[in-house]
Amino acid sequence: MIHPERIEHLNSKPPRTGRHVLYWMQASQRASWNHALELAIEQANQRGVPLLAAFALTEAYPEANARHYAFMLEGLSETQAALARRGVRLVVRRGEPAEVVAALAEGAALVVTDAGYTAVQKQWRRAAAAAVACRMTQVETDVIVPVAVASDHREYAARTIRPKLRRHLDACLQPLAERTLRRDSLDLAVEGLDLADPAAVLAGLNVDRSVGPVTSHYRGGPAEAQRRLRAFVAGDLKRYHTHRGDPGVDVQSHLSPYLHFGQISPLQIALEVRDSGRRGVPEEAREVFLEELIVRRELCINYVHTTPNCASWRALPAWARATLEARRTDRRPAVYTTRQLEAAETADPYWNAAMREMVHTGIMHNTLRMYWGKKVLEWTRSPAAAFRRLLAMDNRWFLDGRDPLSYANVAWCFGLHDRPWAPRPIFGTVRTMTAAGLERKYDMAAYIRRIDAMVNGRREAP
Ligand SMILES: Cc1cc2nc3c(=O)[nH]c(=O)nc-3n(C[C@H](O)[C@H](O)[C@H](O)COP(=O)(O)OP(=O)(O)OC[C@H]3O[C@@H](n4cnc5c(N)ncnc54)[C@H](O)[C@@H]3O)c2cc1C
Repeated sequence: MIHPERIEHLNSKPPRTGRHVLYWMQASQRASWNHALELAIEQANQRGVPLLAAFALTEAYPEANARHYAFMLEGLSETQAALARRGVRLVVRRGEPAEVVAALAEGAALVVTDAGYTAVQKQWRRAAAAAVACRMTQVETDVIVPVAVASDHREYAARTIRPKLRRHLDACLQPLAERTLRRDSLDLAVEGLDLADPAAVLAGLNVDRSVGPVTSHYRGGPAEAQRRLRAFVAGDLKRYHTHRGDPGVDVQSHLSPYLHFGQISPLQIALEVRDSGRRGVPEEAREVFLEELIVRRELCINYVHTTPNCASWRALPAWARATLEARRTDRRPAVYTTRQLEAAETADPYWNAAMREMVHTGIMHNTLRMYWGKKVLEWTRSPAAAFRRLLAMDNRWFLDGRDPLSYANVAWCFGLHDRPWAPRPIFGTVRTMTAAGLERKYDMAAYIRRIDAMVNGRREAP
Protein backbone atom coordinates (compact mmCIF):
# COMPACT_ATOMS: atom_id res chain seq x y z
CA MET A 1 0.00 0.00 0.00
CA ILE A 2 1.12 3.55 -0.68
CA HIS A 3 0.92 5.49 2.56
CA PRO A 4 -1.88 8.08 1.99
CA GLU A 5 0.27 10.75 3.64
CA ARG A 6 2.71 10.56 0.73
CA ILE A 7 -0.09 11.73 -1.59
CA GLU A 8 -1.23 15.33 -2.16
CA HIS A 9 -3.48 16.84 -4.83
CA LEU A 10 -1.77 19.92 -6.28
CA ASN A 11 -4.92 21.43 -7.78
CA SER A 12 -8.63 21.19 -7.16
CA LYS A 13 -9.55 20.03 -10.68
CA PRO A 14 -11.34 16.68 -10.75
CA PRO A 15 -9.99 13.66 -12.61
CA ARG A 16 -11.85 13.10 -15.87
CA THR A 17 -12.46 10.44 -18.43
CA GLY A 18 -9.28 10.34 -20.46
CA ARG A 19 -7.30 8.38 -22.97
CA HIS A 20 -4.32 7.87 -20.66
CA VAL A 21 -2.84 8.70 -17.27
CA LEU A 22 0.25 10.91 -17.40
CA TYR A 23 3.14 10.35 -15.01
CA TRP A 24 5.40 13.42 -14.94
CA MET A 25 8.81 12.25 -13.76
CA GLN A 26 10.93 15.07 -12.38
CA ALA A 27 12.79 14.45 -9.11
CA SER A 28 12.59 10.65 -8.89
CA GLN A 29 14.30 9.51 -12.06
CA ARG A 30 13.97 5.76 -11.65
CA ALA A 31 11.67 2.91 -12.70
CA SER A 32 11.66 1.01 -9.42
CA TRP A 33 11.15 1.85 -5.73
CA ASN A 34 9.11 4.80 -6.94
CA HIS A 35 5.80 5.43 -5.14
CA ALA A 36 4.71 8.06 -7.69
CA LEU A 37 5.16 5.65 -10.58
CA GLU A 38 3.35 2.84 -8.76
CA LEU A 39 0.40 5.12 -7.91
CA ALA A 40 0.26 6.22 -11.56
CA ILE A 41 0.15 2.56 -12.65
CA GLU A 42 -2.67 1.88 -10.18
CA GLN A 43 -4.62 4.83 -11.55
CA ALA A 44 -4.14 3.76 -15.16
CA ASN A 45 -5.19 0.17 -14.33
CA GLN A 46 -8.32 1.34 -12.49
CA ARG A 47 -9.37 3.32 -15.57
CA GLY A 48 -8.29 0.68 -18.08
CA VAL A 49 -6.09 3.18 -19.94
CA PRO A 50 -2.36 3.20 -20.76
CA LEU A 51 0.21 5.04 -18.64
CA LEU A 52 2.40 7.54 -20.45
CA ALA A 53 5.41 9.13 -18.74
CA ALA A 54 6.85 12.58 -19.44
CA PHE A 55 10.18 14.24 -18.70
CA ALA A 56 10.75 17.93 -19.46
CA LEU A 57 14.35 18.59 -20.39
CA THR A 58 14.97 22.27 -19.72
CA GLU A 59 18.28 23.86 -20.59
CA ALA A 60 17.64 26.65 -18.12
CA TYR A 61 17.75 24.78 -14.82
CA PRO A 62 19.28 27.33 -12.45
CA GLU A 63 23.00 26.69 -11.85
CA ALA A 64 23.04 23.41 -13.77
CA ASN A 65 25.96 22.73 -16.12
CA ALA A 66 27.27 19.97 -18.41
CA ARG A 67 28.51 17.98 -15.39
CA HIS A 68 25.00 17.73 -14.01
CA TYR A 69 23.29 17.20 -17.37
CA ALA A 70 25.69 14.39 -18.36
CA PHE A 71 25.03 12.50 -15.11
CA MET A 72 21.28 13.04 -15.38
CA LEU A 73 21.08 12.00 -19.05
CA GLU A 74 23.07 8.82 -18.37
CA GLY A 75 20.44 7.94 -15.80
CA LEU A 76 17.45 8.97 -17.91
CA SER A 77 18.68 6.94 -20.84
CA GLU A 78 18.63 3.85 -18.66
CA THR A 79 15.31 4.80 -17.06
CA GLN A 80 13.66 5.27 -20.47
CA ALA A 81 14.59 1.69 -21.33
CA ALA A 82 13.59 0.36 -17.88
CA LEU A 83 10.17 2.03 -18.08
CA ALA A 84 9.65 0.58 -21.55
CA ARG A 85 10.25 -2.88 -20.07
CA ARG A 86 7.35 -2.11 -17.70
CA GLY A 87 5.14 -1.02 -20.61
CA VAL A 88 5.53 2.72 -20.01
CA ARG A 89 6.72 5.00 -22.75
CA LEU A 90 8.87 7.86 -21.36
CA VAL A 91 8.45 10.87 -23.61
CA VAL A 92 11.32 13.32 -23.18
CA ARG A 93 10.80 16.78 -24.60
CA ARG A 94 12.87 19.92 -24.46
CA GLY A 95 11.09 22.89 -22.93
CA GLU A 96 9.56 24.46 -19.86
CA PRO A 97 8.09 21.77 -17.59
CA ALA A 98 4.61 23.31 -17.34
CA GLU A 99 4.35 23.53 -21.14
CA VAL A 100 5.66 20.02 -21.76
CA VAL A 101 3.38 18.54 -19.08
CA ALA A 102 0.30 20.48 -20.25
CA ALA A 103 0.84 19.37 -23.85
CA LEU A 104 1.21 15.70 -22.90
CA ALA A 105 -1.69 15.92 -20.43
CA GLU A 106 -4.13 16.81 -23.21
CA GLY A 107 -6.74 14.09 -23.11
CA ALA A 108 -5.29 12.64 -19.89
CA ALA A 109 -7.51 11.50 -17.03
CA LEU A 110 -5.09 12.83 -14.46
CA VAL A 111 -1.41 13.65 -13.91
CA VAL A 112 0.70 12.03 -11.22
CA THR A 113 4.08 13.45 -10.30
CA ASP A 114 6.83 13.08 -7.70
CA ALA A 115 7.77 15.68 -5.07
CA GLY A 116 10.61 18.19 -4.97
CA TYR A 117 11.53 20.48 -2.11
CA THR A 118 13.56 23.32 -3.62
CA ALA A 119 12.00 26.59 -4.73
CA VAL A 120 12.37 25.86 -8.43
CA GLN A 121 10.88 22.37 -8.10
CA LYS A 122 7.88 23.71 -6.20
CA GLN A 123 7.39 26.52 -8.70
CA TRP A 124 7.40 24.03 -11.59
CA ARG A 125 4.73 21.92 -9.90
CA ARG A 126 2.55 24.96 -9.18
CA ALA A 127 2.81 26.10 -12.82
CA ALA A 128 2.08 22.62 -14.19
CA ALA A 129 -0.87 22.08 -11.80
CA ALA A 130 -2.35 25.37 -13.05
CA ALA A 131 -1.66 24.61 -16.72
CA VAL A 132 -3.27 21.15 -16.94
CA ALA A 133 -7.03 20.73 -17.27
CA CYS A 134 -7.28 17.70 -14.98
CA ARG A 135 -6.22 16.73 -11.47
CA MET A 136 -2.52 16.71 -10.68
CA THR A 137 -1.41 14.57 -7.76
CA GLN A 138 2.01 14.52 -6.13
CA VAL A 139 3.52 11.50 -4.38
CA GLU A 140 6.52 11.84 -2.06
CA THR A 141 8.99 9.09 -2.81
CA ASP A 142 12.43 10.60 -2.14
CA VAL A 143 12.05 10.71 1.63
CA ILE A 144 11.46 8.04 4.24
CA VAL A 145 8.93 10.12 6.21
CA PRO A 146 6.78 12.57 4.18
CA VAL A 147 8.02 16.05 4.97
CA ALA A 148 4.79 17.42 6.43
CA VAL A 149 4.24 14.27 8.49
CA ALA A 150 7.67 14.64 10.06
CA SER A 151 7.08 18.22 11.16
CA ASP A 152 4.91 21.25 10.42
CA HIS A 153 7.64 23.81 11.09
CA ARG A 154 11.35 24.52 10.68
CA GLU A 155 13.20 22.21 13.06
CA TYR A 156 15.91 23.58 15.27
CA ALA A 157 18.39 20.70 15.05
CA ALA A 158 18.80 16.95 14.60
CA ARG A 159 17.82 16.38 18.21
CA THR A 160 14.42 18.01 17.68
CA ILE A 161 13.48 16.20 14.46
CA ARG A 162 14.92 12.79 15.44
CA PRO A 163 12.09 11.71 17.80
CA LYS A 164 9.48 12.94 15.32
CA LEU A 165 10.97 10.90 12.50
CA ARG A 166 11.40 7.84 14.70
CA ARG A 167 7.72 7.87 15.57
CA HIS A 168 6.88 7.20 11.91
CA LEU A 169 9.65 4.79 10.97
CA ASP A 170 7.71 1.57 11.45
CA ALA A 171 4.92 2.84 9.22
CA CYS A 172 7.23 4.37 6.60
CA LEU A 173 9.99 1.77 6.34
CA GLN A 174 7.81 -0.55 4.27
CA PRO A 175 8.86 -2.19 1.01
CA LEU A 176 7.06 -1.10 -2.14
CA ALA A 177 5.54 -3.78 -4.36
CA GLU A 178 5.75 -3.28 -8.13
CA ARG A 179 2.36 -3.16 -9.86
CA THR A 180 1.87 -4.66 -13.30
CA LEU A 181 0.62 -2.22 -15.90
CA ARG A 182 -2.32 -3.67 -17.81
CA ARG A 183 -2.27 -1.42 -20.91
CA ASP A 184 1.08 -0.34 -22.23
CA SER A 185 1.76 2.97 -23.97
CA LEU A 186 4.67 1.81 -26.10
CA ASP A 187 2.90 2.30 -29.42
CA LEU A 188 1.24 5.64 -28.67
CA ALA A 189 2.08 8.11 -31.42
CA VAL A 190 3.75 10.85 -29.36
CA GLU A 191 6.97 12.59 -30.33
CA GLY A 192 9.92 12.76 -27.97
CA LEU A 193 13.69 12.48 -27.75
CA ASP A 194 15.38 9.09 -27.89
CA LEU A 195 17.98 9.04 -25.10
CA ALA A 196 19.78 5.87 -26.22
CA ASP A 197 22.93 7.97 -26.78
CA PRO A 198 23.03 10.43 -23.85
CA ALA A 199 26.33 12.01 -24.95
CA ALA A 200 24.79 12.92 -28.31
CA VAL A 201 21.74 14.43 -26.57
CA LEU A 202 24.03 16.49 -24.33
CA ALA A 203 26.00 17.70 -27.36
CA GLY A 204 22.78 19.14 -28.78
CA LEU A 205 21.81 21.04 -25.63
CA ASN A 206 22.52 24.70 -25.06
CA VAL A 207 23.92 24.42 -21.51
CA ASP A 208 26.82 25.87 -19.51
CA ARG A 209 29.87 23.80 -20.50
CA SER A 210 32.39 25.53 -18.25
CA VAL A 211 32.18 22.57 -15.86
CA GLY A 212 32.60 19.28 -17.66
CA PRO A 213 31.28 15.75 -17.01
CA VAL A 214 33.03 13.46 -14.52
CA THR A 215 31.74 10.21 -15.98
CA SER A 216 35.09 8.47 -15.56
CA HIS A 217 34.73 8.89 -11.79
CA TYR A 218 30.96 8.77 -11.29
CA ARG A 219 28.78 7.33 -14.01
CA GLY A 220 25.14 8.31 -13.69
CA GLY A 221 22.25 5.85 -13.61
CA PRO A 222 20.20 3.50 -11.45
CA ALA A 223 22.34 0.46 -12.38
CA GLU A 224 25.51 2.13 -11.13
CA ALA A 225 23.63 3.26 -8.00
CA GLN A 226 22.55 -0.35 -7.34
CA ARG A 227 26.09 -1.60 -7.90
CA ARG A 228 27.44 0.94 -5.40
CA LEU A 229 24.74 0.09 -2.85
CA ARG A 230 25.50 -3.64 -3.08
CA ALA A 231 29.25 -3.06 -2.80
CA PHE A 232 28.84 -0.71 0.15
CA VAL A 233 26.51 -2.99 2.13
CA ALA A 234 28.78 -5.99 1.49
CA GLY A 235 31.96 -4.01 2.22
CA ASP A 236 32.59 -0.67 3.93
CA LEU A 237 29.29 -0.40 5.82
CA LYS A 238 30.60 -2.68 8.56
CA ARG A 239 33.19 -0.05 9.58
CA TYR A 240 31.11 3.03 8.84
CA HIS A 241 30.67 3.85 12.55
CA THR A 242 34.40 3.75 13.24
CA HIS A 243 35.87 5.19 10.03
CA ARG A 244 33.20 7.40 8.47
CA GLY A 245 34.97 10.62 9.41
CA ASP A 246 38.41 9.61 8.11
CA PRO A 247 39.03 11.07 4.64
CA GLY A 248 42.19 8.99 4.23
CA VAL A 249 40.22 5.75 4.47
CA ASP A 250 36.96 6.89 2.80
CA VAL A 251 34.26 4.41 3.74
CA GLN A 252 31.28 6.51 2.64
CA SER A 253 28.66 5.06 0.30
CA HIS A 254 29.08 7.68 -2.49
CA LEU A 255 25.36 7.50 -3.11
CA SER A 256 24.57 11.22 -2.75
CA PRO A 257 24.66 12.10 -6.49
CA TYR A 258 22.33 9.16 -7.19
CA LEU A 259 20.01 10.30 -4.40
CA HIS A 260 20.08 13.84 -5.73
CA PHE A 261 18.83 12.80 -9.18
CA GLY A 262 16.39 10.29 -7.73
CA GLN A 263 18.28 7.45 -9.42
CA ILE A 264 18.03 5.47 -6.19
CA SER A 265 15.39 5.46 -3.48
CA PRO A 266 16.34 6.34 0.12
CA LEU A 267 13.74 3.78 1.21
CA GLN A 268 15.50 0.97 -0.62
CA ILE A 269 18.87 2.02 0.85
CA ALA A 270 17.42 2.23 4.36
CA LEU A 271 15.80 -1.21 4.17
CA GLU A 272 18.93 -2.89 2.82
CA VAL A 273 21.07 -1.28 5.49
CA ARG A 274 18.56 -2.09 8.24
CA ASP A 275 18.43 -5.73 7.17
CA SER A 276 22.20 -6.11 6.74
CA GLY A 277 22.48 -7.34 10.32
CA ARG A 278 21.77 -10.79 8.87
CA ARG A 279 24.98 -10.45 6.90
CA GLY A 280 27.01 -9.61 9.97
CA VAL A 281 26.97 -5.79 9.76
CA PRO A 282 27.19 -4.51 13.36
CA GLU A 283 24.17 -2.69 14.77
CA GLU A 284 26.21 0.43 15.51
CA ALA A 285 27.32 0.72 11.89
CA ARG A 286 23.74 0.40 10.68
CA GLU A 287 22.52 2.97 13.20
CA VAL A 288 25.17 5.54 12.40
CA PHE A 289 24.48 5.21 8.68
CA LEU A 290 20.69 5.45 9.11
CA GLU A 291 21.18 8.54 11.29
CA GLU A 292 22.86 10.23 8.29
CA LEU A 293 20.48 8.93 5.64
CA ILE A 294 17.26 9.54 7.56
CA VAL A 295 17.73 12.08 10.38
CA ARG A 296 20.43 14.34 8.89
CA ARG A 297 19.14 14.16 5.33
CA GLU A 298 15.51 14.74 6.26
CA LEU A 299 16.49 17.58 8.61
CA CYS A 300 17.98 19.30 5.54
CA ILE A 301 14.81 18.63 3.55
CA ASN A 302 12.73 20.04 6.43
CA TYR A 303 14.88 23.20 6.34
CA VAL A 304 14.53 23.79 2.61
CA HIS A 305 10.83 22.92 2.62
CA THR A 306 10.09 25.40 5.42
CA THR A 307 12.56 28.11 4.34
CA PRO A 308 11.65 29.53 0.93
CA ASN A 309 14.62 31.95 1.06
CA CYS A 310 17.15 29.25 2.03
CA ALA A 311 19.59 30.49 -0.61
CA SER A 312 19.81 33.81 1.20
CA TRP A 313 22.14 34.90 4.00
CA ARG A 314 19.06 36.30 5.74
CA ALA A 315 17.68 32.79 6.25
CA LEU A 316 20.45 31.92 8.72
CA PRO A 317 19.64 31.89 12.45
CA ALA A 318 19.69 35.41 13.92
CA TRP A 319 22.30 34.54 16.60
CA ALA A 320 24.69 33.25 13.94
CA ARG A 321 24.33 36.26 11.65
CA ALA A 322 24.78 38.62 14.61
CA THR A 323 27.95 36.99 15.91
CA LEU A 324 29.50 36.74 12.44
CA GLU A 325 28.60 40.35 11.62
CA ALA A 326 30.13 41.50 14.91
CA ARG A 327 33.43 39.90 13.77
CA ARG A 328 33.23 41.23 10.25
CA THR A 329 36.18 43.59 10.69
CA ASP A 330 38.45 40.97 12.29
CA ARG A 331 41.67 40.52 10.33
CA ARG A 332 41.53 37.50 7.98
CA PRO A 333 44.68 35.30 7.78
CA ALA A 334 44.30 35.50 3.98
CA VAL A 335 41.68 36.66 1.52
CA TYR A 336 41.42 34.68 -1.74
CA THR A 337 39.53 35.41 -4.91
CA THR A 338 37.04 32.83 -6.18
CA ARG A 339 39.43 32.13 -9.07
CA GLN A 340 42.24 31.32 -6.61
CA LEU A 341 39.92 29.08 -4.62
CA GLU A 342 38.63 27.18 -7.63
CA ALA A 343 42.19 26.72 -8.87
CA ALA A 344 43.09 25.27 -5.43
CA GLU A 345 45.77 27.93 -4.96
CA THR A 346 45.58 28.56 -1.23
CA ALA A 347 48.36 28.06 1.31
CA ASP A 348 46.46 25.13 2.86
CA PRO A 349 47.30 21.70 1.36
CA TYR A 350 44.25 19.96 2.85
CA TRP A 351 41.88 22.57 1.54
CA ASN A 352 43.55 22.47 -1.89
CA ALA A 353 43.23 18.69 -2.01
CA ALA A 354 39.53 18.96 -1.13
CA MET A 355 38.96 21.55 -3.85
CA ARG A 356 40.75 19.34 -6.38
CA GLU A 357 38.57 16.41 -5.36
CA MET A 358 35.52 18.58 -5.98
CA VAL A 359 36.65 19.99 -9.31
CA HIS A 360 37.97 16.71 -10.74
CA THR A 361 35.48 14.15 -9.39
CA GLY A 362 32.31 16.12 -8.54
CA ILE A 363 32.18 15.11 -4.88
CA MET A 364 34.19 15.64 -1.66
CA HIS A 365 34.55 13.63 1.53
CA ASN A 366 32.09 14.83 4.22
CA THR A 367 34.80 15.79 6.75
CA LEU A 368 36.52 17.92 4.14
CA ARG A 369 33.22 19.52 3.06
CA MET A 370 32.90 20.87 6.60
CA TYR A 371 36.49 22.09 6.70
CA TRP A 372 36.25 23.48 3.16
CA GLY A 373 33.20 25.57 4.08
CA LYS A 374 34.59 26.87 7.34
CA LYS A 375 37.80 28.01 5.62
CA VAL A 376 35.94 29.93 2.92
CA LEU A 377 34.23 31.83 5.72
CA GLU A 378 37.66 32.59 7.21
CA TRP A 379 39.14 33.71 3.85
CA THR A 380 36.36 36.03 2.66
CA ARG A 381 35.98 39.69 3.62
CA SER A 382 32.39 39.43 4.82
CA PRO A 383 30.36 36.47 6.11
CA ALA A 384 27.45 37.22 3.77
CA ALA A 385 29.80 37.18 0.76
CA ALA A 386 31.34 33.94 2.04
CA PHE A 387 27.89 32.35 2.26
CA ARG A 388 27.06 33.37 -1.30
CA ARG A 389 30.25 32.10 -2.82
CA LEU A 390 30.27 28.87 -0.88
CA LEU A 391 26.76 28.06 -2.06
CA ALA A 392 27.65 29.01 -5.63
CA MET A 393 30.73 26.72 -5.60
CA ASP A 394 28.76 23.88 -4.01
CA ASN A 395 26.05 24.09 -6.64
CA ARG A 396 28.50 24.52 -9.50
CA TRP A 397 31.01 21.74 -8.89
CA PHE A 398 29.23 19.04 -6.90
CA LEU A 399 27.26 16.38 -8.73
CA ASP A 400 24.98 16.43 -5.69
CA GLY A 401 24.80 20.26 -5.63
CA ARG A 402 21.52 22.23 -5.92
CA ASP A 403 20.02 19.79 -3.44
CA PRO A 404 18.27 20.48 -0.11
CA LEU A 405 21.46 19.06 1.43
CA SER A 406 23.50 21.73 -0.36
CA TYR A 407 21.49 24.63 1.06
CA ALA A 408 21.26 23.26 4.58
CA ASN A 409 24.87 22.14 4.84
CA VAL A 410 26.33 25.35 3.48
CA ALA A 411 24.15 27.12 6.04
CA TRP A 412 25.49 24.70 8.70
CA CYS A 413 28.98 26.14 8.15
CA PHE A 414 27.44 29.46 9.29
CA GLY A 415 25.68 28.08 12.37
CA LEU A 416 22.43 26.47 11.14
CA HIS A 417 21.35 23.38 13.12
CA ASP A 418 24.27 24.01 15.48
CA ARG A 419 24.72 25.83 18.79
CA PRO A 420 27.01 28.66 19.91
CA TRP A 421 30.56 27.63 20.87
CA ALA A 422 33.35 29.47 22.70
CA PRO A 423 34.05 32.80 20.90
CA ARG A 424 36.87 32.97 18.32
CA PRO A 425 38.10 35.65 15.91
CA ILE A 426 36.16 35.92 12.62
CA PHE A 427 33.71 33.15 13.65
CA GLY A 428 32.38 34.69 16.84
CA THR A 429 30.48 31.84 18.51
CA VAL A 430 30.01 29.84 15.29
CA ARG A 431 31.94 26.54 15.38
CA THR A 432 35.42 26.58 13.82
CA MET A 433 37.55 23.81 12.32
CA THR A 434 41.33 23.74 12.13
CA ALA A 435 44.01 21.87 10.19
CA ALA A 436 45.53 20.78 13.51
CA GLY A 437 42.19 19.21 14.46
CA LEU A 438 42.11 17.23 11.20
CA GLU A 439 45.72 16.08 11.73
CA ARG A 440 45.00 14.99 15.27
CA LYS A 441 42.14 12.75 14.24
CA TYR A 442 42.92 11.55 10.73
CA ASP A 443 45.68 10.45 8.39
CA MET A 444 45.60 13.59 6.26
CA ALA A 445 48.71 12.58 4.29
CA ALA A 446 46.75 9.53 3.13
CA TYR A 447 43.93 11.82 1.98
CA ILE A 448 46.29 13.95 -0.08
CA ARG A 449 47.86 10.83 -1.63
CA ARG A 450 44.41 9.47 -2.47
CA ILE A 451 43.31 12.69 -4.16
CA ASP A 452 46.61 13.07 -6.04
CA ALA A 453 46.24 9.56 -7.41
CA MET A 454 42.62 10.15 -8.40
CA VAL A 455 43.22 13.50 -10.05
CA ASN A 456 46.25 12.15 -11.92
CA GLY A 457 44.26 9.17 -13.16
CA ARG A 458 46.28 6.57 -11.24
CA ARG A 459 43.25 5.61 -9.20
CA GLU A 460 39.53 5.62 -9.86
CA ALA A 461 37.02 7.22 -7.53
CA PRO A 462 35.53 4.54 -5.27
C1 LIG B 1 29.67 22.40 3.47
C2 LIG B 1 28.92 21.15 3.09
C3 LIG B 1 28.32 21.06 1.85
C4 LIG B 1 27.60 19.92 1.49
N1 LIG B 1 26.99 19.90 0.27
C5 LIG B 1 26.23 18.83 -0.08
C6 LIG B 1 25.58 18.81 -1.35
O1 LIG B 1 25.68 19.75 -2.14
N2 LIG B 1 24.81 17.72 -1.65
C7 LIG B 1 24.70 16.66 -0.80
O2 LIG B 1 24.01 15.70 -1.13
N3 LIG B 1 25.30 16.66 0.41
C8 LIG B 1 26.07 17.71 0.80
N4 LIG B 1 26.70 17.71 2.02
C9 LIG B 1 26.40 16.63 2.98
C10 LIG B 1 27.36 15.43 2.97
O3 LIG B 1 28.70 15.86 2.99
C11 LIG B 1 27.13 14.54 1.75
O4 LIG B 1 25.76 14.22 1.64
C12 LIG B 1 27.90 13.23 1.87
O5 LIG B 1 29.27 13.48 2.04
C13 LIG B 1 27.63 12.43 0.62
O6 LIG B 1 28.46 11.30 0.53
P1 LIG B 1 27.88 9.84 0.68
O7 LIG B 1 26.66 9.66 -0.13
O8 LIG B 1 29.05 8.93 0.45
O9 LIG B 1 27.47 9.86 2.22
P2 LIG B 1 27.33 8.69 3.27
O10 LIG B 1 28.26 8.99 4.40
O11 LIG B 1 27.43 7.37 2.65
O12 LIG B 1 25.86 8.94 3.85
C14 LIG B 1 24.70 8.39 3.21
C15 LIG B 1 23.72 9.47 2.95
O13 LIG B 1 23.37 10.13 4.17
C16 LIG B 1 23.12 11.50 3.92
N5 LIG B 1 24.10 12.35 4.60
C17 LIG B 1 25.40 12.09 4.83
N6 LIG B 1 25.99 13.13 5.46
C18 LIG B 1 25.04 14.08 5.59
C19 LIG B 1 25.02 15.38 6.15
N7 LIG B 1 26.12 15.95 6.67
N8 LIG B 1 23.87 16.07 6.13
C20 LIG B 1 22.76 15.52 5.61
N9 LIG B 1 22.71 14.29 5.07
C21 LIG B 1 23.84 13.58 5.06
C22 LIG B 1 23.29 11.69 2.42
O14 LIG B 1 22.05 11.54 1.80
C23 LIG B 1 24.23 10.56 2.05
O15 LIG B 1 24.20 10.21 0.69
C24 LIG B 1 27.47 18.83 2.39
C25 LIG B 1 28.10 18.92 3.64
C26 LIG B 1 28.80 20.06 4.00
C27 LIG B 1 29.42 20.13 5.36
